[in-house]
Amino acid sequence: MNIIEHFIDGKTFSGSSAEKGKVFNPATGDQTAEVRLANNKDVNEAVKSAKDAFLSWSNTPPLQRARVMFKFKELIEKNSDELTKIIVSEHGKVYEDAKGSLIRGLEVVEYACGIPQMLKGEYTENVGSNVDSWSIRQPLGVCAGVTPFNFPAMVPMWMFPMAIACGNTFVLKPSEKDPSCSMKLAKLLKEAGLPDGVFNIINGGKEAVDGLINHKEVVAMSFVGSTPIAKYIYENCAKNEKRVQALGGAKNHCVVMPDCDLDQAVNGLMGAAYGSAGERCMAQSVAVAVGNIGDKLVSNLAKKVETLKVGPGMDKKSEMGPLVTKEHLEKVKNYVDIGEKEGAKLIVDGRNLKLQGYENGYYIGGCLFDHVTAKMRIYKEEIFGPVLSVVRAKNFDEALQLVNDHEFGNGVSIFTRDGDSGRTFSNKAKIGMVGINIPIPVPMAFHSFGGWKRSLFGDQHMHGPEGVRFYTKLKTITSRWPSGLRSDPEFVMPTMK
Ligand code: NAD
Repeated sequence: MNIIEHFIDGKTFSGSSAEKGKVFNPATGDQTAEVRLANNKDVNEAVKSAKDAFLSWSNTPPLQRARVMFKFKELIEKNSDELTKIIVSEHGKVYEDAKGSLIRGLEVVEYACGIPQMLKGEYTENVGSNVDSWSIRQPLGVCAGVTPFNFPAMVPMWMFPMAIACGNTFVLKPSEKDPSCSMKLAKLLKEAGLPDGVFNIINGGKEAVDGLINHKEVVAMSFVGSTPIAKYIYENCAKNEKRVQALGGAKNHCVVMPDCDLDQAVNGLMGAAYGSAGERCMAQSVAVAVGNIGDKLVSNLAKKVETLKVGPGMDKKSEMGPLVTKEHLEKVKNYVDIGEKEGAKLIVDGRNLKLQGYENGYYIGGCLFDHVTAKMRIYKEEIFGPVLSVVRAKNFDEALQLVNDHEFGNGVSIFTRDGDSGRTFSNKAKIGMVGINIPIPVPMAFHSFGGWKRSLFGDQHMHGPEGVRFYTKLKTITSRWPSGLRSDPEFVMPTMK
């Protein structure tokens, strides 16, 4: 059986833990590999390697760091087919979707290529007579990232290209469910000329994560995953005096106004609710039908959900692949049972889907509920599967209230032809990322990604300008040369005269 090791100091590293996890191909249900689960000693090795590499890397001029990113970008493009196939084989999503997610990660690498421009700082001549002042951003030290299973390339790439380009060194703890993509990216970074120790990977679960949280040399933590773990990371990193950004779960609403282009809304919802089998933090899992549009929306959606092509991710005809694990499949099916018991109307039931030749794969067909209410668990909780709940709202205000009352605040969208509704909605929604006739409003790399409320603990979003701020600290220098104005000792607060 293939064993997925750690990657420390530019080499694969087995470590001292005997514990291993299992990695499966969700399309077939076959185990494809074992993955090492790091203990504290292994974490210490990774952090030591990152610490040793920091001095030299942080002193490497930003332009040279950018050149590594340029080369890395080229290598990702060259290896994109292999990387995509790795994602499909361990996550299950369909090939073109996996490729798209890789490209969204690549865009952060492209942004990081511009790091010399972003680290230029600010300078003021003569803040006082013959006194100059400038602000610079310096790297932090050893940064860590802990990532979820659902974007094995993109989410780690929200973090490490920015951290490394800013002059930090990095330890990544990818999801133990699909760790191979990160391992391949580590090898490409080395090939791109990144010095050993600047980027390290430890594989594992809670013990590995706790090792990073408690390590005093780790100065910043970026986390993406479910809300309970995000909160745990946020609280414990703060207790350990680390800078932290912890992105959590979501329940993204799509408000469908009676004046919208219904075909556009239905097609948008189909991709956003069922793409990647609903395993996206920006998946739309709630459609809010406003006014009298509900019946038409549900009947148009139902026709499409019933004919969704579910199959293995490598089959070009598949629109939706399997879920990531058997346990997750059971969890999603259980939510559909709960919805029925709660009194929601199950319009399309995907629970009994069987695929010939793939009987052991983790498949479920698309599920559609109507008449879901805000009190139901299927409305309140994140299901993270291909289950769309339609909620009816009398009017715009009621729809907006639903959005704002929900505990999560990651993404939201509105479908309308009315500019006034779109503008008011984007202004009033208590949500981090808003789409107007855009079903999945994921910001580009040169903006920043992040939610509000219990979808993000911390102050800064990921990548883009917020990424630069997160991975650097500000220093302001004020300077006067001896030839400047000489003065007697001053015992009062200096002010401009
Ligand atoms: P998860 O929270 O189970 O795991 C995320 C990471 O935390 C993994 O690396 C895992 O090993 C680690 N982990 C798990 N349990 C832990 C514990 N008790 N202590 C310490 N570390 C632990 O999430 P997942 O199932 O891998 O991913 C799906 C979740 O991620 C969903 O909730 C989804 O919404 C969320 N997500 C959010 C965003 C966002 O941008 N907000 C993006 C992608 C995914």
